[in-house]
Amino acid sequence: MLEVVQIPCLSDNYGFLVHDPASGQTISIDSPDADAITRMLETKGWSLTAIWNTHHHFDHAGGNAALVARWNCQVIAPKGDAKYIQNADRWVEDGDEVFVGTIKARVLHTPGHTMGHVIYVFDQQRKAFVGDTLFALGCGRLFEGDASNMWPSLQKIRDLSPQTLIYCAHEYTADNLRFALSVDPENQQLLERGAAIRQAREKDQPTVPFLLETDLQTNPFLRPDAPAIRAKLEMQGASDVEVFAEIRRRKDGF
Ligand code: ZN
Ligand code: FE
Repeated sequence: MLEVVQIPCLSDNYGFLVHDPASGQTISIDSPDADAITRMLETKGWSLTAIWNTHHHFDHAGGNAALVARWNCQVIAPKGDAKYIQNADRWVEDGDEVFVGTIKARVLHTPGHTMGHVIYVFDQQRKAFVGDTLFALGCGRLFEGDASNMWPSLQKIRDLSPQTLIYCAHEYTADNLRFALSVDPENQQLLERGAAIRQAREKDQPTVPFLLETDLQTNPFLRPDAPAIRAKLEMQGASDVEVFAEIRRRKDGF
C-alpha cells in the first residue's frame, strides 16, 4: 500500500508525498515549495528519502537544494533536463525503474512541455505522477517541444490502465473546462464532469487526482481522433497529430 499526501502550494501547484509504510520511505514528487513539503513531512512524522523530479521548471525542481539541505535526501531527475537540474544522484530515462521501499514505479519519457520531461507510473497501485504533461481536461504548454513530441507522450498515458489515478501538478481544471467545451460542446460526459468541477471549485476542493478513464472520455487533448471534435474543427481528413496540434494552438490563444 502507498499513502499519497497532496500539498497545495505556490499559486496553483500540487506537491505530492508518496509514503510506503512497510519500509518507512517517503518520496516527494518534485519540489515546488520546500517549506510546505517540510511542514507536511514533520506533521506526518516522516523523513524524506528522495525527490523524483518530472522536469526542470522552477515550480518543480526549485526546492531541491533546500530539501536536500534539510533532509539529506537523494535526487532522481530526468536525464534530458540534466543541463538545468544540478546535483542529481541519479539520472533517469524512458523504461527505468525507481522504488519506494520495494514498490516499483516505471519512468516514462514524455517530451513536449520540456524535452526531458518524465512521468512516474506505479502500475500495480494504478497511480501516475504526470507533472506538467497531462492536466485534468488539458495538457502542458509546448515550451520546448512541438506537437510531434507531445502527441506520442500523451499516447503513452492513453495506453495506461483506464483505472489509473492521475496526479498532475497544477489545479488548472476550471480554465481547461471552458476551453474543452469550446471544441467539444456536445460531449454529454464533459457537460456532466463540468458541473462536478464547478461545484468542487466553488467549495475550493481539488479536482486532482482524477481517473484516467474520465479524461479519456472528456479531455480534448487525449481525443484528437473523436469524430465530434474533428467535425467542430473541420479537420475530418487530418491525422491525429495534426488535430492535436490545432487543439493546442487554439488553447494557447484562448
Ligand atoms: Zn512546467
Ligand atoms: Fe509547472
